[in-house]
Amino acid sequence: MKKIYFVGAGPGDPELLTLKGQRLISEADAILFAGSLVSKAAMMWAKESSIIQDSKGMTLKEITDWLISHAVDNAKVIRLQTGDPSLYGALVEMIQPLDKEGIAIEVIPGVTSAMASAAAAVETLTLPEITQTVIFSRVEGRTPMPEGESLRELASHHCTLCLYLSITLLKKIKTELLAAGWDESAPIVVVYKASWENEQQIIHGTLATIREQCQQAKINSQAMIIISPTLGARHWKTLKKSKLYDADFTHKFRKANKIKEENI
Ligand code: SAH
Repeated sequence: MKKIYFVGAGPGDPELLTLKGQRLISEADAILFAGSLVSKAAMMWAKESSIIQDSKGMTLKEITDWLISHAVDNAKVIRLQTGDPSLYGALVEMIQPLDKEGIAIEVIPGVTSAMASAAAAVETLTLPEITQTVIFSRVEGRTPMPEGESLRELASHHCTLCLYLSITLLKKIKTELLAAGWDESAPIVVVYKASWENEQQIIHGTLATIREQCQQAKINSQAMIIISPTLGARHWKTLKKSKLYDADFTHKFRKANKIKEENI
């Protein structure tokens, strides 16, 4: 059988690969990796005989041709994608030509950069009574946004926004968020190369300051922008606690504190 695995490599640190992704890399006969974003370190598990190719300079057609030509019967062929393959990964464009060839497909999820960035900055993206919603999006640049998905419209929810592919558009982000009613002092975290050893940078700023801070730090690619009313919550003095761990809250796995319950 001919089969190609689309494996999420995670954000950069090879230890953030899934066990399944690591095993597949170690068994692969051919690996095509997105060299502009995937760390070469992920290839450390590949066997000596594995054919490894960077797709950085390739067109979509060249990528699918490469995958098709290596997907001979019983060969293990991997397309290694940054983060999770289902987000901004041209997954369907690559899969359609493979479907036409009758090649089986399996997708292995990966840690997306939004989650790795939140972890790096020790931030939560949801917080009781602050926001319970996270939007993964990007800002319109050369790629147009579908109707109803302009940043201004998305930001009007005042929930957490994780913006991919948008680090060069901080000026527009400020204009759109102000128009959506956010304050100039709203906190923003930018994480450059989340989880990359010795390269990761975390910039804490506000809508007013972040563009200049990123310019000074020369960050203009491979960065995640997190805008959220939850940012910095680690340092807040008062916090609405999650009901799940509340002593007064009964759920499937734990009875509420008896005395307190009787008092209700
Ligand atoms: N599929 C990927 C996203 C690919 S689009 C994922 O799930 O993460 C590329 C964008 O992802 C970059 O412009 C940047 O916004 C973000 N990105 C990828 N790797 C990153 C990292 N290590 N740190 C911060 N942002 C990253």
